[in-house]
Amino acid sequence: MAHIVQVGAGSGGMVVLDLVAREPQVKRITLIEPDVYKPHNAIRHYFPQEAAGLRKSELARQWLAAHRPDLEVQCLEVDLLDMSAQPKIEAAVASADIGVCAVDNEPAKYHWDALMRKYRKAWTLGEVLSGGIGGFVHVFRPEGPCYGCVASALKRSVEVDSAPPPDYSQPGGPVYEVTVPASKASISVIASLHALVTLELLQNPDYDPGFTCVLLALRKVPQVFDEVLRPYRFRIERMRECLFCGEAAHRGAAEDLDEALAQALDRLAHA
Ligand SMILES: [Zn+2]
Repeated sequence: MAHIVQVGAGSGGMVVLDLVAREPQVKRITLIEPDVYKPHNAIRHYFPQEAAGLRKSELARQWLAAHRPDLEVQCLEVDLLDMSAQPKIEAAVASADIGVCAVDNEPAKYHWDALMRKYRKAWTLGEVLSGGIGGFVHVFRPEGPCYGCVASALKRSVEVDSAPPPDYSQPGGPVYEVTVPASKASISVIASLHALVTLELLQNPDYDPGFTCVLLALRKVPQVFDEVLRPYRFRIERMRECLFCGEAAHRGAAEDLDEALAQALDRLAHA
């Protein structure tokens, strides 16, 4: 009985949720989504304008009940980063088979990554580039590189607001969060790939698509993407010096303190 824990049911997340829920091996879904549906969401979402004012989690629950009445659905209407919600979130993560990340802010992605590594769960992430010119799908495993390793390898900026205009001088170059709205078509293509990879990974934990991250070009953009529908595959290794999953992260804080103290005493001894 497969249990998927997903964060985010926005315009992309809802596509992923719908597609993974269609597969009979998925028996249980936990959705973390605190947002309220707004009138402007309707243009890229499954739900009508009249649904504005309701929680996205409630709308998702109704959608799933209509299409998979046998599915067990739990909604956590909490912010992923809310400290008081962590026990509930961690309980869901601990019992899940796989995680799905469909949020578009960096702190939430890093937090999700930390949760997934803590409970040693594989997870997937989909990201649409600004303007919908392309998008990423990432596959994370407990023993593999973390989100920090991947972000660093792809040289991505986490400073979105102060970031210069997107400059995809080469695939895998700086990538920013969605700032120019993407079309529903672009969002759906990347979300569908995200769902596909998630289902493969769920079916076979050893599933190796041949990449850690795949970047699919959806639009021809001068000096960025020469061809449409071309995938760029990235195999990314765990970084030894990674602050989140590398050797430094595994050394306890106490050990660091001991080391600092020893060095300080050493300096005094030689003063
Ligand atoms: Zn790392």
